[in-house]
Amino acid sequence: MAIIFFSSDASGEQVRKNLQTELPDLPIWNWQETDTATRQSARYAIAWNPPEDFFDGLDNLQAIFSVAAGVDHLLDHPSLPPEVPLARLEDAGMADKIAEYVLYGVLHAQRSFDHYRSKQALQEWDNSDREVHAADTTVGILGLGTIGRVVAKRLVSNNYHVKGWSRSQKTVEGIDFHAGTEGLPGFLDNLDTLVCLLPLTPDTHGIINKQLLEQLANGTFLINAARGKHVDTAALLEALESGKLRGALLDVTDPEPLPGNHPLWSHPAVLITPHVAGPTQMQESVRQIAANIKRAEAGSELTGLVDRVRGY
Ligand code: NDP
Repeated sequence: MAIIFFSSDASGEQVRKNLQTELPDLPIWNWQETDTATRQSARYAIAWNPPEDFFDGLDNLQAIFSVAAGVDHLLDHPSLPPEVPLARLEDAGMADKIAEYVLYGVLHAQRSFDHYRSKQALQEWDNSDREVHAADTTVGILGLGTIGRVVAKRLVSNNYHVKGWSRSQKTVEGIDFHAGTEGLPGFLDNLDTLVCLLPLTPDTHGIINKQLLEQLANGTFLINAARGKHVDTAALLEALESGKLRGALLDVTDPEPLPGNHPLWSHPAVLITPHVAGPTQMQESVRQIAANIKRAEAGSELTGLVDRVRGY
């Protein structure tokens, strides 16, 4: 009986050591070092974006753990075992990092740093009054889940007016909440900044498209810290050209990495970061996965279980 994990980089050995400290009695194998017998003995698999043959021979798995909050890569895996429970990371230190990232983007637009950046390029000292208070700035968050709620609270504590949108109705103190398809127009109405923190599912793929962008106020700022495929890139570029969007902060793109010469790289109103808004916090992630494996060993229900039908 063993744990098998996959890591595509040199951090793998450190992950193995950390996991071993948390679970001293279980043998833990790096997938690249396993043989047929070890794979047969594996009861738990830990991975994010594993190779196509990762699940080959892992015939006795009791649970699969994603080393990420999003599971789109795993759900798209051609041989993900259909019946094995799949658990994802819940926050594990990422939400706070994403809250910082979003706050940076919201401030960028609210305090007109985009304007000053363009003026700097022209060597123009423009100190005309552009004051906008946080309390007069509305930020809308698509996806008010584990991460979205932390982001919303951070923005509320910085005096922003926050709107949230989710599939199901919720009550979150201090947030103007909208739910479902019927709640989307009210949510989109009069935003200063739109933030995407949705999981990537068939329902949310391409959700930020021409039709959605048309419902925004002119000059809205966009922050995408979820997945690149949430955004229709052609519609985004068109909205930037028309002024519907004043700019965008994109942590994720379609495709990733963004190829050379892609128009987003050089667009003056676009800030790009290479999928670093909420890096996996290794210690917390290992602790969370180890706690879940202990639950499984004790016959208790796992936390962070993914509903494969809805896709998150
Ligand atoms: P959760 O599953 O906790 O929350 C998802 C939220 O999205 C829920 O509020 C859910 O609504 C809502 N939602 C899902 N589908 C729909 C839909 N069709 N219509 C309306 N609302 C919907 O996810 P997390 O907060 O943990 O993570 C969100 C995403 O953030 C991840 O999937 C990942 O893609 C991204 N991420 C990005 C990182 C980065 O570095 N850039 C790092 C970590 C995560 P309801 O609550 O009603 O079900």
